[in-house]
Amino acid sequence: MAADSKPETLLHPGIAVDGHGALSRRVYAEPPHPYRTPFARDAARILHARAFRRLAGKTQVFNRLPGNPPGDHFRSRLTHTLEVTQISRTVAHALGLNAELAEALALTHDIGHPPFGHAGEAALDHALQAHGLGFDHNLHALRIVTWFEERYAAFRGLNLTLGVREGIVKHSRDYSSAQHPELAEYFLDQFPPLEAQLIDLADEIAYLTADLDDGLDSSILTLDQVREAVPLFRGFHNDVLSLYPAAPQKLTVTEALRRVLNALVTDLMSEVRVRVAALGATTLDEIRRTPQRLAALSPAAEANRAAAKQFLYACFYNSPQMVDAHSHAGRVVEGLFAALMADPGLLPEDHRAQIPTEGLARTVADYIAGMTDSYIEQLWNRCGGR
Ligand code: MG
Repeated sequence: MAADSKPETLLHPGIAVDGHGALSRRVYAEPPHPYRTPFARDAARILHARAFRRLAGKTQVFNRLPGNPPGDHFRSRLTHTLEVTQISRTVAHALGLNAELAEALALTHDIGHPPFGHAGEAALDHALQAHGLGFDHNLHALRIVTWFEERYAAFRGLNLTLGVREGIVKHSRDYSSAQHPELAEYFLDQFPPLEAQLIDLADEIAYLTADLDDGLDSSILTLDQVREAVPLFRGFHNDVLSLYPAAPQKLTVTEALRRVLNALVTDLMSEVRVRVAALGATTLDEIRRTPQRLAALSPAAEANRAAAKQFLYACFYNSPQMVDAHSHAGRVVEGLFAALMADPGLLPEDHRAQIPTEGLARTVADYIAGMTDSYIEQLWNRCGGR
């Protein structure tokens, strides 16, 4: 973290997205609400959406150990989403950005994820590749909010603001306008506002700390392993051990992880301030036209983040205890995909109606992507899957 940064410093107000400006425009004009801003209304629309509720039934990393019933306190997609939302709101507020826009984007950031975590997404993408297509959870999220959610008699979708739709598409990656002409309205030649850029970092910080927590809690990871491989954790854990030498081990872990989370969030805010100051930016337009994204960790914190992530991939996400769950996810997702392709009559009527415009493979993928872990298991069993 830069030593000279002042934690209380807000960015120039011209950098924040204007809550009533051009980005608050909707496809279908609606009268203004008497006391809620457009982005606050969008956050509420997502919170009340069916796809949002289904996040409760979708795996984040894992929800059970081999041979055990599902664990009640490991992160689901929903609780992960709420943790990302807390971090995003905090950062946006502390920097003087539009916290309501950041909240709406954080609530939506994983809404396009299929069942069974990363393994389910990889399997769905693999199944689609055989049809010359692919699965991208950001683009699927856009389809959910613009089409699949039905809560209004006058139009399909949630009629979200342009700012929220742009952020859904661009918060974690940049799309080329040549490859994605259908996304032309989302300023593909520019970076998104900081409110969207920070979501990706908030996501990383949330899941790194949460996965260390769940990894240790499940005993897939050991404390010695984490101390050895994650220097940032080791430093804070040593501090906690000297402060509370008699504390139970589990509490020393929680105390250390709280400090890791706080350090990474504080570093993110500091680095954004440093980068914006170096640029001398005072407008959103300047943020959009920089050569690189401005929401990032400092080089030292980035090295810590990368080390932790590398460790989690090697020892948690790809651990022997997860192999069975991954292959099960692949078998169910690809098996059900094949069964529905072979017999589209198994699709619900509203999905079948999409086949003429979207094609069968995309329609089947849309249906599967919307399922919770338990629903896809039930359907797979009903289709005779084993
Ligand atoms: Mg996420």
